[in-house]
Amino acid sequence: MEWMKSALCARVDPELFFPVSAAGPALREELAAKRICVRCPVLRPCLTWALDSGQAYGVWGGASAEERAALRRQQPESSARPRLSSAGPRSAAPPAARRAPRPRLAD
Ligand code: SF4
Repeated sequence: MEWMKSALCARVDPELFFPVSAAGPALREELAAKRICVRCPVLRPCLTWALDSGQAYGVWGGASAEERAALRRQQPESSARPRLSSAGPRSAAPPAARRAPRPRLAD
């Protein structure tokens, strides 16, 4: 995905984008991740990709998993985008392994 080359999160600790909960210190991590997303030049394609691919964990496109789920619920059926495979190899993996790799910049 070409847009990942411009991802700001590729330059920071990826753990920031996968807080363990939405409370306490994890909430601070989530907010810190969202502050990075707001400045990211590829926020829109990132969010679209996260919604289309059903990313169930982490902050993508400036939205938490719960916020993306709410966005998906708000989409009328007629405008629902076709989903990428939801039964891919990651679906059988434990939650930590389901995390999509953060984009990495070339050295
Ligand atoms: S999660 Fe998406 S919007 Fe946020 S910094 Fe990474 S690429 Fe940009």
